[in-house]
Amino acid sequence: MAGKPRVGCEALRVVARCRPMSRREEAAGYERVLELDVKLGQVSIRNPRAAPGELPKTFTFDAVYDASSKQADLYDETVRPLIDSVLQGFNGTVFAYGQTGTGKTYTMQGAWAEPEKRGIIPSAFEHIFTHISRSQNQQYLVRASYLEIYQEEIRDLLAKDQNKKLELKENPETGVYIKDLSSFVTKNVKEIEHVMNLGSQTRSVGSTNMNEHSSRSHAIFLITIECSETGPDGEEHIRVGKLNLVDLAGSERQNKMGAQGERPKEASKINLSLSALGNVISALVDGRSTHIPYRDSKLTRLLQDSLGGNAKTIMVATLGPASHSYDESLSTLRFANRAKNIKNKPRVNEDPKDTLLREFQEEIVRLKAQLEKRGMLGKKRRRSSRRKKAMDGEGAVDNEGEDENEDGLEKNMENYLKEQKERLEEEKAAIQDDHSLVSEEKQKLLQEKEKMIEDLRKEQEATELLAIKYKAMESKLLIGGRTIVDHTNEQQKMLELRRQEIAEQKRREREMQQEMLLRDEETMELRETYTSLQQEVEIKTKKLKKLYAKLQAVKAEIQDQHDEYIRVRQDLEEAQNEQTRELKLKYLIIENFIPPEEKNKIMNRLYFDGDEDQWKFQPLVPTGGNSSQMKRRPTSAVGYKRPISQYARVAMARRSHPRFR
Ligand code: ADP
Ligand code: MG
Repeated sequence: MAGKPRVGCEALRVVARCRPMSRREEAAGYERVLELDVKLGQVSIRNPRAAPGELPKTFTFDAVYDASSKQADLYDETVRPLIDSVLQGFNGTVFAYGQTGTGKTYTMQGAWAEPEKRGIIPSAFEHIFTHISRSQNQQYLVRASYLEIYQEEIRDLLAKDQNKKLELKENPETGVYIKDLSSFVTKNVKEIEHVMNLGSQTRSVGSTNMNEHSSRSHAIFLITIECSETGPDGEEHIRVGKLNLVDLAGSERQNKMGAQGERPKEASKINLSLSALGNVISALVDGRSTHIPYRDSKLTRLLQDSLGGNAKTIMVATLGPASHSYDESLSTLRFANRAKNIKNKPRVNEDPKDTLLREFQEEIVRLKAQLEKRGMLGKKRRRSSRRKKAMDGEGAVDNEGEDENEDGLEKNMENYLKEQKERLEEEKAAIQDDHSLVSEEKQKLLQEKEKMIEDLRKEQEATELLAIKYKAMESKLLIGGRTIVDHTNEQQKMLELRRQEIAEQKRREREMQQEMLLRDEETMELRETYTSLQQEVEIKTKKLKKLYAKLQAVKAEIQDQHDEYIRVRQDLEEAQNEQTRELKLKYLIIENFIPPEEKNKIMNRLYFDGDEDQWKFQPLVPTGGNSSQMKRRPTSAVGYKRPISQYARVAMARRSHPRFR
């Protein structure tokens, strides 16, 4: 780390949110097992099958949101500071984690139509563009991507070709990224909402059962914000903040057999990313692990920065209040409780290589220079004054003449074209009228003029295109008060500010309460002075009782964990048995039906591509060779052609067995 600026550690912020009882749950008469203490940030969960005397389990988080909480409460208190950081150039991530039907999508997206039910994503859109519109002396570029991970395959929800599976790549400078992921530069809330809706539509179109699909896939909305500003050193600096908004797959334990018609192998992939997420968190928190298994899944690789890395991260654990989801709720609470202990080292991304903003700026300068060379920008003033003079005669008022921005560009160009054309036409007419010229000579001169008019037209067309491109590019760079304007009035602004202050105050109060609670327990002992032996015995007995209850709770927790461990282990063993059985079948086929020399040939050519998690064939001919080269090798070409589909399947089977992974 030598030479790098020191960065502070920051824990993952974890909040819990409990949705209201659904009508179905109420009708079925389920009891409530969750109690939330909003002031203290605590959730208590009571086992509906508890033995008498068993205490509820209590978990403390950075904040908790009960059924009556508003979307804006969660946003202002918890998410707003993170988005502010992203606007300053930090990376940020918000996860929603929880069982299907507990409100992950409600929290992330919410109900679009009703403003007060809008979730984190639409609120972030508003927040980001309002911030930019109020900024000064800064240039912003905002772009968005939308993707989904389903059965360990990455799908670009904004791409034309939905069948294309995207690959993860790693760059030593910028970290893990998705190759060829499409992204759209957006200039305002409406545009980014459009991008979001486009992706959401794509997401639902491809699936026969949307509920099942969304409960098994991870959706990630990615916003990249680049900001350029002149620093105190007089140089221009660019900061880049990346925001991941993640609606995770349902955290419920998957049915071992998977959905109907699904082979076990497919079912085993469903929650691979989610269990890998759990493993990464455990390893990070463990403190003894030197290896963090980020590479085990697409999700954990992609969000490596957010877990123990340089990002600021929030996890919203969503819960159902009713007794029938007790097991899942408890497991969500435990998961969230573990995540609390992850430490990140957030850092501003200053002047990274290859920013789009820089590219845009350079392109704009280039286009501007070209336009100037073509006389478009430079000539403007002269021409508009000329135009004014010409129009004065008709008594027209020309406002555009004063206006020196690019809006007048197209108009100017039109006029310029007209003027030039008129001049040439005049000259043409003059030639025609000139009786001193011989007709041949006249014809030649006229043709020349015609050609000049045609060239002029072409030239103007090209310039027009350039100007359009220039305008389009410049409009994408957002400048507060100029290209993007804030329409909130003073009163609204005041209200907004007030709301933020309250949110901040609430947060501070809760932190203090939590701190006090902790300190209370620590200092009770020190403060106590006993007036009599009797009193000392009483107080110590009380304390003993308290500690005993705590001990029992911890013991119960250990037992629970142990049971869970055994269950998971049994699952794994079952999966392993199934795979071994499948492997045996494939072996039987290979050993009995494939000539050994063919088998050896293939084995020698197979290699494992860790990046793509696939077995692959080494090419027969060195890369860059073409098919004619292959034809020149008759024996291997024939041997290669026939059985390849068979072999490919063999390779697949080998891959699915843990021994080969
Ligand atoms: P998930 O995405 O976790 O599967 P959803 O977000 O689809 O769950 O929520 C399930 C249902 O519960 C939806 O009808 C949603 O409107 C409702 N819901 C979830 N959370 C809340 C909440 N905090 N307040 C009101 N309704 C909620
Ligand atoms: Mg959902």
